[in-house]
Amino acid sequence: MSSVQKTDVIVVGGGASGMMCAGILASKGLKVVLLEKNNELGKKLSITGGGRCNITNATFEVAKFLDNFPEAKKFLHSPFSQFSAQDTFTFFESRRLPLVTEARNRVFPKSQKATDVTAVLRKELKKNRVNVQTSSPVRKVLFKDGIAKGVLLKNGTVYEAPYIVLATGGMAAPETGSTGDGFAFLSTAGHSVSKPSANVVPLKTDAKWVHKLSGTSVSFMELRFKQNGKTKLKKKGKILFTHFGISGPLVLNSSHEVSELLKKGPVHAEINLFPDTNEHDLDKRVVRLFDNNKNKKLRNVLPEILPKSLAHTVIFLSDLSLGEVSVHSITKDERKKLVKTMQALGFPIVGTMGLDRAVLSDGGVKLEEVDFKNMTSRIVPNLYILGDLLNINRPSGGFSLQLCWTTAHVAARDIIEKLK
Ligand SMILES: Cc1cc2nc3c(=O)[nH]c(=O)nc-3n(C[C@H](O)[C@H](O)[C@H](O)COP(=O)(O)OP(=O)(O)OC[C@H]3O[C@@H](n4cnc5c(N)ncnc54)[C@H](O)[C@@H]3O)c2cc1C
Repeated sequence: MSSVQKTDVIVVGGGASGMMCAGILASKGLKVVLLEKNNELGKKLSITGGGRCNITNATFEVAKFLDNFPEAKKFLHSPFSQFSAQDTFTFFESRRLPLVTEARNRVFPKSQKATDVTAVLRKELKKNRVNVQTSSPVRKVLFKDGIAKGVLLKNGTVYEAPYIVLATGGMAAPETGSTGDGFAFLSTAGHSVSKPSANVVPLKTDAKWVHKLSGTSVSFMELRFKQNGKTKLKKKGKILFTHFGISGPLVLNSSHEVSELLKKGPVHAEINLFPDTNEHDLDKRVVRLFDNNKNKKLRNVLPEILPKSLAHTVIFLSDLSLGEVSVHSITKDERKKLVKTMQALGFPIVGTMGLDRAVLSDGGVKLEEVDFKNMTSRIVPNLYILGDLLNINRPSGGFSLQLCWTTAHVAARDIIEKLK
């Protein structure tokens, strides 16, 4: 049976930003309904950071923090000056969730459990008596005379409120419920929504030798991405070989630039296994290695300076059928080729993995169409747009969840002010 329920605020989507926003609104005595299509809240939040939840990034100077949002920086000064990474510490630590800062300023709950973050937000919703409706997919946002009147649920129930908050997420990891419904609602409202594509995502190659290295990781290497013979991007750090290509934070955080390059033409990747040694010095090191192991086979000697599986790959890629020969019979030219290969293991990048393997989706609402002072739509003034619905490119490292906490707080404050 269909029915119409009236409330102060409707929040659509019980993920990171929706839970945060609903809890703050209700803490000021507002009547809030939180509509979530899954049978539980915060499904994606509970798997973030490999189950540990990289909750924010401890870069406390707002301008520095925003350097990580290159294209969106100019829009974000206002919301981040209202609620910053420092405020995230205060919010969670005052709710008995101590946080710890790890390498690259990444912040995690001390318990190392993402589910503890979800639990804090759930508790907040309960304490403040938010009307939480799980298993309640919203089918439509209802508009009248240029404003949002309410929402229609799949089961026919209608909720009406003077303010509606959209927090339905992007399209990455759709199995968590973020299937892009909000983009459709916003298009209907007249917003320009660019097509979502995978971002912060592993890269694919068809080079079989890469697939064979699946499970091997290499630290202290340099990864270069080339187009038309020119290096377009290079980064140092650690990569992980997988059965489809390469992954790890360094690769994930290069994926946006690499997919832009792929739109222009083929991209070739190269790994330098010894980025801090020049070719001459590396050759000298190999000569010494050979001198000390004259009668041993190359396949048993090279693992002294490289992980075994990688050493065998280098031998294979050097076109040397030399793995089985003793190193004293390797010619100078063959040795030089070996050295060159170690500093330029090349393979083509044929694409990025899909949305199901992505941490974020690119695309979303055009930023010019959002008033970032209060997170309202510039087209429908009583509609608020949070989190992953915004078309904001950023790296991994806690920046996405901070964007959720910030946009949720800014929207909530504005609604509280307006309903006073
Ligand atoms: C594997 C993985 C790991 C990640 N790790 C990190 C990390 O450690 N740190 C970090 O900063 N970021 C991380 N992210 C990114 C981060 O999770 C997202 O940026 C964040 O969850 C976005 O929050 P949101 O509130 O916008 O949307 P979501 O958290 O996606 O929530 C949207 C909610 O809306 C619901 N919904 C959708 N449509 C409807 C509808 N029609 N009706 C009702 N409900 C609906 C969905 O079911 C979902 O619960 C990770 C992402 C992934 C996929």
